[in-house]
Amino acid sequence: MNNRRTFIKKSGLLLTALSLPIPNLLFAGGKKKLGVALVGLGGYSSNQLAPALQLTEYCELRGIVTGSPEKIPQWQEKYGIPDANVYNYDNMHEIANNDDIEVIYIVLPNSMHAKYSIIAANAGKHVWCEKPMAMNAEECREMIAACEKNKVRLAIGYRLQHEKNNRIMMKWAETHPYGPIQELTAEAGFFSQNPGWRAVEEMGGGAMYDMGVYPLNTSRYTTGMEPIAVSAKSSTSRPELFKEVDETMDFTLEFPDGITAHCRTSFGEGMNILDVTCRNGSYYLQPFQTYSGVKGRTSDGKFLEPMRKNQQAVQMDDDALAIMQHEPFIAPGEDGLKDIIVLEKIYESAAQGGKKLKIEYS
Ligand code: NAD
Repeated sequence: MNNRRTFIKKSGLLLTALSLPIPNLLFAGGKKKLGVALVGLGGYSSNQLAPALQLTEYCELRGIVTGSPEKIPQWQEKYGIPDANVYNYDNMHEIANNDDIEVIYIVLPNSMHAKYSIIAANAGKHVWCEKPMAMNAEECREMIAACEKNKVRLAIGYRLQHEKNNRIMMKWAETHPYGPIQELTAEAGFFSQNPGWRAVEEMGGGAMYDMGVYPLNTSRYTTGMEPIAVSAKSSTSRPELFKEVDETMDFTLEFPDGITAHCRTSFGEGMNILDVTCRNGSYYLQPFQTYSGVKGRTSDGKFLEPMRKNQQAVQMDDDALAIMQHEPFIAPGEDGLKDIIVLEKIYESAAQGGKKLKIEYS
């Protein structure tokens, strides 16, 4: 109790001194940090999320869910995770009885996002789910409904929406410092030598599901609008590797006011740019979607310097604070759903040889 009082007093003084609103930490039961369990201990959990959770102020790594028993001792030793907080995919629902864990973060292959997000929600825990939210809009809606039913929150791991320069893009979508946006280019890709499950259709493979959601999501927040029509073409230069899914997808999004977004994503070539043309000037971010070093320039010579903080730590702290303070998430499930509605149309258009299709959101 003393610690809690001292903490609230200290944080109150500090925040008052900074003239910021005081976070209502009492909503989190007086706890400063929310306990997070990572589900799936692959590349992103191991190399980005777990290290970032060592830097967060409002959440910490307290549990793991894995189907690979050989990973358990390393993770327990490295991150001090007790036996009671280690689960596998079959007993993960028992986290319902674990008060150490408030948030379950799904970091599995894309086709597994919906199933394990719903298990997490049914365990009464808040859900953070990696992008792309799910395989189709129906799955996304089931995830949203499961979270609503269990009165838990759902955020999508769109780290870029927490990154300083991408947030400037969102602000400029409202303030139009260079006049109304006319068109933009958004491209994200890398050369994948060994795509693994990312080349398997039933696992949710394909460049569009993987990197393609970046140009899509970014086009939406850079314009501050929802696309009304799309046309798309998929291609591959390595048919022996990409037998089932797209290696490359080119897609054009039409927004209201005649704004067009020219987008491209690929597992076959490196690209990383957001370039925005407005009536009275232009600006770009290059790279726009790396883990660090996102930077850019404006047509009148302003330099958008990279953010110094760890992107994933900022993302998870923003989302933890949103839970504690009962504030909206920056990227809630509804945002992930909108991308998947458009993504489904992109695949539909590609299957019809690039036919322009209208997008309906209801
Ligand atoms: P990965 O292949 O490195 O790890 C996947 C994990 O899932 C592994 O631990 C694997 O053992 C486990 N798994 C369980 N069942 C599996 C099955 N049937 N087949 C294959 N693996 C299985 O993948 P990753 O790069 O960590 O990606 C995981 C998720 O995180 C994906 O949804 C991806 O889109 C997302 N991701 C997001 C970012 C980002 O910047 N936000 C970056 C990388 C990955």
